[in-house]
Amino acid sequence: MSKYNVERVPHYIGGKFVEGTSGKLFQNMNPATNETLNEVAEGEAEDIHLAVQAARQAFDEGPWRTMGVAKRLEYIVRIADLIEANAEELSYLESLDTGLPISQTKKQAARAAENFRFYAEMVKSRMVGEAYQVDSSFINYTIHKPVGVAGLITPWNAPFMLATWKVAPALATGNTCVLKPAEWSPLTANKLAQIVHEAGLPPGVFNVVHGFGETAGAALVAHPDVQLISFTGETKTGSEIIKNGADTLKRCSMELGGKSPAIVFADADLERALDAVVWGIYSFNGERCTANSRLFVQEKIYDQFVDALKERVANIIVGDPMDPATEVGPLIHRKHWEHVTSYIALAQAEGAEVISGIVPAECSTGNYIAPTLLLNCTNRMRVVQEEIFGPVLAVIPFKEETEVLQMANDVKYGLAAYVWTNDMKRGHRLAQGIESGMVWINSQNVRDLRIPFGGAKASGIGREGGHYSFEFYTETQVIHVAIGEHPIPQFGKKKEE
Ligand code: NAD
Repeated sequence: MSKYNVERVPHYIGGKFVEGTSGKLFQNMNPATNETLNEVAEGEAEDIHLAVQAARQAFDEGPWRTMGVAKRLEYIVRIADLIEANAEELSYLESLDTGLPISQTKKQAARAAENFRFYAEMVKSRMVGEAYQVDSSFINYTIHKPVGVAGLITPWNAPFMLATWKVAPALATGNTCVLKPAEWSPLTANKLAQIVHEAGLPPGVFNVVHGFGETAGAALVAHPDVQLISFTGETKTGSEIIKNGADTLKRCSMELGGKSPAIVFADADLERALDAVVWGIYSFNGERCTANSRLFVQEKIYDQFVDALKERVANIIVGDPMDPATEVGPLIHRKHWEHVTSYIALAQAEGAEVISGIVPAECSTGNYIAPTLLLNCTNRMRVVQEEIFGPVLAVIPFKEETEVLQMANDVKYGLAAYVWTNDMKRGHRLAQGIESGMVWINSQNVRDLRIPFGGAKASGIGREGGHYSFEFYTETQVIHVAIGEHPIPQFGKKKEE
């Protein structure tokens, strides 16, 4: 037994942990066993309304927005300290809830804490305006103000870290917020509410309502007192949210799905490329928006590279997410397991050769899927075009640069891309030609917090991270002041004779 209890998860509204207004609960499942882990309050429109009201009141009446940056940032830094102090529990809960291997969740708390500290620093230096003396009678200046109540809707993959990407800049800039975490991963969102509570934030500044997308999520999007929605999730959900938010003119940030290519040229450092490709698709159980789920390998090295890939796939350790040796754990939920499994069956039907790693016999009750390679693929197959979001890699050979660029772009998504070549002119040329928000050349997916994150095409609208989140969560107001007899045109005034 673990030293951490997993209890019933309530909402956190107006500074209190509360049951839902309907009293309904839903079951949260353990992905490693498919047994119930715990029960979770099932929020509906009424709970969302209460949370938005609490957030609105906290925004309008203060003191969060009015207390001054230095004071507010003391709270933000306290949240970061508490995240660090609870790192072990956060990693445990995340792995238990999502099936992500514990070795891959253990650094997430440190990264999330760093994000809070990062926005504390950024707000200090950027929550400043510009001033212009237009002439001796007229000055103009700008100020950055929080926007209001932020609706934050998050997915189940890396749920803690992705929630903090939104919560940290939203709060540091003085907004209040309502977080609607994914229904398949409520545990670390609840722990975040406990941390914020312990940090002593004024009631209503941060609220969490659990529940399903079609009910709780949709109610948050439609609520007239919510000024902005920051969403991470599937592309089709993103479209739905934009449509539903249109009536109340929501400011939207959209971090959506991907089908990112890795392109390996014959002149690349093949050992490093192999390490990165294997990590990029099979880490985090393949449930990663930036996963390199399409691999293009130059023909000259195709056999050699694919043989090495097969060997890696056969050796990947699939198992209990709590075992530090595990490299791939169970997928989040039985429904998602069915989704990924159906794509593997589709691959076969489409004529791909399916090569699978090993799932140990003791894993039969969980949502385990063997790391999978799809060979003999063509770019137009559905398994190459659609997001599978599991440990499944489709491999396609290519002859030369123009051809691979065309195939890399021939997909509706445009989140990330990875280019492996020692010809740096080609590396940059290709990177600039690829239609994606991010490209890594000879490197794997890491991001300095100052750098933006986000996708092009169907992978997103806007960017998160760096100063982009600061802009998203703030309103720039211009104030024009006459300090003398600044001329005003006279209109309709009787002319003096
Ligand atoms: P999802 O779209 O099913 O759900 C995401 C969130 O939206 C959940 O909280 C859900 O309850 C809510 N939701 C669902 N329908 C809604 C509606 N009609 N109105 C309001 N809210 C609604 O996504 P998921 O399956 O949880 O996450 C996986 C997806 O997220 C993948 O497509 C992945 O690529 C994407 N993702 C993108 C990024 C990125 O930064 N681009 C990062 C992580 C995950």
